[in-house]
Amino acid sequence: MAPPIMTHSVTPEAGVPQAAPLIDGIEKIADVAETAFARGDRPSLIGLDRPRLALALEEIGVPEKERRMRVAQLWQWIYTRGASDFDEMSNVGKDLRRRLAEQFTLARPEIVSEQVSKDGTRKWLLRMPSTGAAERVHTGRGAEIECVYIPEADRGTLCVSSQVGCTLTCTFCHTGTQRLVRNLSAAEIVAQVMVARDRLGEWPGATPPSDGFVPEVDGGRYVSNIVMMGMGEPLYNFENVRDALDIVSDGDGIGLGKRRITLSTSGVVPMIGRAGDEIGSMLAISLHAVRDDLRDKLVPLNKRYPIAELLEACRTYPGVSNAKRITFEYVMLKDVNDSDADARELVRLLKGIPAKINLIPFNPWPGTVYECSDWDRIERFSDIVFNAGYASPIRTPRGRDILAACGQLKSETEKLRARARLAVADETAGGA
Ligand code: SAH
Ligand code: SF4
Repeated sequence: MAPPIMTHSVTPEAGVPQAAPLIDGIEKIADVAETAFARGDRPSLIGLDRPRLALALEEIGVPEKERRMRVAQLWQWIYTRGASDFDEMSNVGKDLRRRLAEQFTLARPEIVSEQVSKDGTRKWLLRMPSTGAAERVHTGRGAEIECVYIPEADRGTLCVSSQVGCTLTCTFCHTGTQRLVRNLSAAEIVAQVMVARDRLGEWPGATPPSDGFVPEVDGGRYVSNIVMMGMGEPLYNFENVRDALDIVSDGDGIGLGKRRITLSTSGVVPMIGRAGDEIGSMLAISLHAVRDDLRDKLVPLNKRYPIAELLEACRTYPGVSNAKRITFEYVMLKDVNDSDADARELVRLLKGIPAKINLIPFNPWPGTVYECSDWDRIERFSDIVFNAGYASPIRTPRGRDILAACGQLKSETEKLRARARLAVADETAGGA
């Protein structure tokens, strides 16, 4: 008889799946070689910061005394006008435009697919050109990431990825099951915002798409908020995330204030203080459990940085105040972390921290062992938290029909490969 086929690395034990072994963070992942992405052999200038734009100009022989002014022009064209062709740059001389176009492009990452949910949520699958041998072996065609736009009455939130996949293996998260992992460059992170603005028509003279709801905020913004809640652990890609958010928040360009940007971490404690000092965005913590034994299983990183250390880092987060609260995310898993006692313990743990609590109904994905808590259980949990004085909004699941909701992000390539692996396993089992 054929042996049972293992198709998933988690095995249920006492109602809770065991985490796959914790893979060390940054040191094990392939980093990007360049900061820009390229089309053919010409790198794109999209997503570059000022020093890198200056280097590009130096490369094509622009004299040093001219560079500062030229950088300012490029910046303006790229980040406030959304230029996609050097010929649009009317205040840049013809000769310089030609030299720029010979060596560089203004290309965005390729949009492999765009899906629009019934609720207006949009999901883009973007292909970043290959940066290393590892990717070519895996997929033959570069890395794919997802970027999601969530329209609401008073805001349009873009959910941005920081890595391809994630080295952390939170057991309830689809992204954590993806094998291929690398950091995105700062340019690749910024490029997600550029693509969203292209598709939403958020440049001067452009118009929003006619399919799906796109709210206009602050007289003309469609992307009004950014959450670093796509694929990846942003604090394992600290410098690139920091540099990207500096570009996105630059007042002479896209100009999204840091208070409209939220960085979500699963709890990389040693980097939290630096995030406050050097990024200064809003902070969200993926807490999900109030006891270490349970959190060790749900968020394996907890074995290294347990709850007490994590909360201490929150207490001392630079800039934290009642006006700048930390959001604690708590995914509602049926019969796992959703009891009244859990809610009361959550309130007790957060005492003294300026906090908001965000209850996230679990978004199921194919192969998961978890279920979402029942609605009345979530409401009861929310009431306990609310009565203790915390805002406790329940996050409305968005884009479920296109697998665009939290923790459902996983590239098409990876899905195809997973299917291929299953097919191979089937064949092997059949022949045994
Ligand atoms: N890696 C970072 C940011 C990306 S995940 C982090 O973990 O914080 C964004 C949020 O979605 C996190 O709070 C994460 O725990 C949550 N999440 C992951 N999988 C989910 C799922 N299947 N259902 C609901 N929320 C999920
Ligand atoms: Fe990575 Fe966040 Fe998913 Fe955990 S929840 S596996 S840290 S993306």
